[in-house]
Amino acid sequence: MSLQQQVSSAFSENGCLAQAMPAFRSRPQQQEMAQAIAEAIEQQQQLVAEAGTGTGKTYAYLVPALLSGGKVIISTGTKTLQDQLYQRDLPAVREALKVPVSVAMLKGRANYICHYHLQRASQEGRFQSREDAQYIPILQSFAEHSQSGDKAELVEVPEQATVWQQVTSTRDNCVGQDCQYYKQCFVMEARKQALAADVVVVNHHLFFADVMLRDEGVAELLPSANTVVFDEAHQLPEVAGLFFGEDISTSQLMDLGRDSQMAYLSIAKDCVALSEAVPPLEKACRDFRLVFQFEGSRMPVQKAQSLKNFDDAYQRMLETLSTLTAVLETQAGRDPLLEKCWQRGEGLLALLEAWLKGNQANLVRWVEVFSQSVQLHATPLSVADGFGKQLNAQPRAWIFTSATLAVKSDFSHYQGQMGLLAAQTKHWQSPFDYSQQALLYVPSGMPEPNSSAYTAAVASVSLPILQASRGRAFVLCTSLKAMREVHALLKQAFEEHGLEYPLLMQGESNRTELLDRFRAHGNAVLVGSQSFWEGVDVRGEALSCVIIDKLPFAPPDDPVLAARIDKMNAEGKNAFMEYQLPYAVITLKQGAGRLIRDEQDVGVLMICDPRLVDKPYGRRIWQSLPPFRRTRVQQEVEDFFALINAGDQP
Ligand code: SF4
Repeated sequence: MSLQQQVSSAFSENGCLAQAMPAFRSRPQQQEMAQAIAEAIEQQQQLVAEAGTGTGKTYAYLVPALLSGGKVIISTGTKTLQDQLYQRDLPAVREALKVPVSVAMLKGRANYICHYHLQRASQEGRFQSREDAQYIPILQSFAEHSQSGDKAELVEVPEQATVWQQVTSTRDNCVGQDCQYYKQCFVMEARKQALAADVVVVNHHLFFADVMLRDEGVAELLPSANTVVFDEAHQLPEVAGLFFGEDISTSQLMDLGRDSQMAYLSIAKDCVALSEAVPPLEKACRDFRLVFQFEGSRMPVQKAQSLKNFDDAYQRMLETLSTLTAVLETQAGRDPLLEKCWQRGEGLLALLEAWLKGNQANLVRWVEVFSQSVQLHATPLSVADGFGKQLNAQPRAWIFTSATLAVKSDFSHYQGQMGLLAAQTKHWQSPFDYSQQALLYVPSGMPEPNSSAYTAAVASVSLPILQASRGRAFVLCTSLKAMREVHALLKQAFEEHGLEYPLLMQGESNRTELLDRFRAHGNAVLVGSQSFWEGVDVRGEALSCVIIDKLPFAPPDDPVLAARIDKMNAEGKNAFMEYQLPYAVITLKQGAGRLIRDEQDVGVLMICDPRLVDKPYGRRIWQSLPPFRRTRVQQEVEDFFALINAGDQP
């Protein structure tokens, strides 16, 4: 039987999926998608596949991937999705298909405890807090008894505990084959298992950081794969941009200083010059941070260079790093840790010098300021060339799937970004009946989105809708500033009107906890920004309304975006229509996708931005959304909710 016949049989009404899973319902979109993926695998093609919410795309790629018999890498958007796929979907499909396929999950280094650094940290005894010191015996026992060393298995030490930085490795500070623990190393073991498995589940960051850039122990993973599947593939252009560029952070210099000091104390006590070279570097990094006033700011290199003291502070970092590296070179032969420190010093020095010179025309140089550090980025204007080379290095199937890749069935924006111009493209509508289940409401009389009165108007038009929906809503804002303002205004309005809907805001606690609270209340209103636009799944009545303040155009002051726009305009292209608009459409589709999660879900999507209706490009945007019933009349929304609240179908 050909792969396509096997897939067809698996999805048929009495096929093995239906037999093994009583809740499984065969859907035509899912079957078609699985067939298209099977064909791409057989023909070793590139396929870009958009599947609306509810298509069942996970099974649509898992079934052909598992039946294909070759080595498959599946990359997901986040670690949570990675766990979900590995622990829930993959075993279920493997069992239903009864195929003898071995599977493995590979995470980034920072997820595995490192014997070498754990031992160093306990010997050193320098911790950031008393709790960190108290975690050490627990970590030692875990390192001794755990099979995987995966920190997700050690609940006694919280994920955010600072001690994890001291007891895990980075590519910079792993001593590799010189390590005395190499044979027991959890990172190396996980990589070995990944190499041996038929199906390996990774995430996009790991894929680009390690698999493509070939960190030690994973170099053979990609060449041995027949098929690579990217789920949540709309995230790839951004993630790939991070890894095809060249970045350097002052915290890397500080880390080098810390590790050098540690090496001095434990190995090279007689080399006073080593100890003396560290404080000037640390001071230079702190002084460089002080050049920038605001945490969170992002600016192009030209603007950074115009700041007072930038040049002097940069030179000072170069000089002090150069001094430390020279001392490290004299000590490198004494121990693998010292040798590694010296190599890191050389590498960082080269990056720091190159960033300042900026010789590569295709890289946009810009600066990002954090509370304690500064990151110097050199981001490619396009990842298409770098990624395109990898795509064509060897024949294999590449599958890119997500619910949001196209603008009105046009994939050219995504294909252009990723260098996938020769790929097949396919689109499947969601099986949900949007015209019955959902209403798209664009309020009338809104001011211009850039006017100072806009955010207050958003809060004011939202209030009657939130009353009609009885809470049960997400209010998604395009900026943190707007989010805080809308939250404050709604809080005040709820008090004035005696409304008792619990009002939550992004940042009050972590995302998972906030979502748990949102679900548990059943009538809450959650005001959020970026983190809630995607990857959030609240089914049923607890989420019956999604309000979006503005069309999500990327912030125009983003240095990389500004450089891309300049380049496109200089080439005679229309950057707005070809780049900014598709970006906004794809982001909006993600936000809108939070509302209807299954066949029973009903609700209202309210987009406050008048440009959706007033501007000529607005039509292109709403036509890219699922086929909602549309209205501009508040009363219709209230009637819609009245029917839902009465327990009737709208
Ligand atoms: S090889 Fe690297 S990651 Fe593994 S134990 Fe040694 S230092 Fe840690």
